[in-house]
Amino acid sequence: MPSIDVHVSQAGSIVAGELKTDPTIVAKCTLCARTVEAVAAIGEGTACAVCLRERLDALSVARFRLCEPKSTGTPWGKVTG
Ligand SMILES: [Zn+2]
Repeated sequence: MPSIDVHVSQAGSIVAGELKTDPTIVAKCTLCARTVEAVAAIGEGTACAVCLRERLDALSVARFRLCEPKSTGTPWGKVTG
């Protein structure tokens, strides 16, 4: 698995697996445009924990809504991976 670049405000960053301390660094999320404690790189931008969590929730909800009519059992038990 390739390493995921992370920026931590006032602490530093990990880019391509390399730790770099930088007390002046500011972690800004490209999705919500907020300055946060830490962001992870996603494609061309960055995402904070809140935005990442929202997307995980969206995955679960979408799978539930799209797959639910076909399923006979409890949909939440099928949410894996
Ligand atoms: Zn965000």
